[in-house]
Amino acid sequence: MEKLLISACLVGENCRYDGKNCFNPLIEKLKAKYELILICPEYMGGLPIPRAPSERREGMVVSSKGVDVSVEYEIGAKLALFLARENNVVGAVLKEKSPSCGTHYIYDGTFSHVLIEGMGVTAELLHQHHIPVYSEDQIEELL
Ligand code: SF4
Repeated sequence: MEKLLISACLVGENCRYDGKNCFNPLIEKLKAKYELILICPEYMGGLPIPRAPSERREGMVVSSKGVDVSVEYEIGAKLALFLARENNVVGAVLKEKSPSCGTHYIYDGTFSHVLIEGMGVTAELLHQHHIPVYSEDQIEELL
């Protein structure tokens, strides 16, 4: 069975910044076709649950409290890349709009709910290493 990395919050893990999840019912169909390797880069990078929301800004990741959390995001991204390679995944399904997992859109760094085109730190690193990344809106392409 081919393997996919997947954002753990899409599978129902309560690992979001607010301690909630973003369960997507299409995950059940994905499970029938792929072995899913769960990742939460922010948690894997050492950030707690819950945590202050963060956004990418000027080459950094900054929390709503003004704390530079770039290192934690980079550690989480590198661990996700490690897992992708170890498991020889065929791609990654990631939560759109997240500063870690966003594949097409992220918030603009002003904490004013403004979306811009861009990728989260983990999505970007995986993409740079030629691992296909998909948002939850593209799950049907994989079924
Ligand atoms: Fe979900 Fe990714 Fe945020 Fe973790 S880092 S809560 S997997 S979007």
